[in-house]
Amino acid sequence: MNFIQGGAATHFQQMETLMFVYHCDKCGREVERNNDAVLIDGEVNGFSLDHLMSDRHFLPVIENGEVVCPGSPSRAQYIEGQPKDSRGYSYDPRAEPLYRAAYAKLQLETN
Ligand SMILES: [Zn+2]
Repeated sequence: MNFIQGGAATHFQQMETLMFVYHCDKCGREVERNNDAVLIDGEVNGFSLDHLMSDRHFLPVIENGEVVCPGSPSRAQYIEGQPKDSRGYSYDPRAEPLYRAAYAKLQLETN
């Protein structure tokens, strides 16, 4: 998938360029690039038009010891140390390496 031809832009940078919204649809706070569920999802499943108009935290956001945003448990559950999604989203073992690789790549490219 290639939206922007040329240059050395990474997939994440290409996705970011196209996104209009950078605030979490769950908590309203700004979503840091290294904790962006839309970028992770776009890397795993392919970026789609749906991704342009929403943003969401990936891992839970904790401030002063309090969870201020649950993030995206259905996706974050694939990251080591994160709890399984309690809402009943199934855990697909085949998805685990994809989400872990996407998260690791995002950390490398945004830190
Ligand atoms: Zn949030």
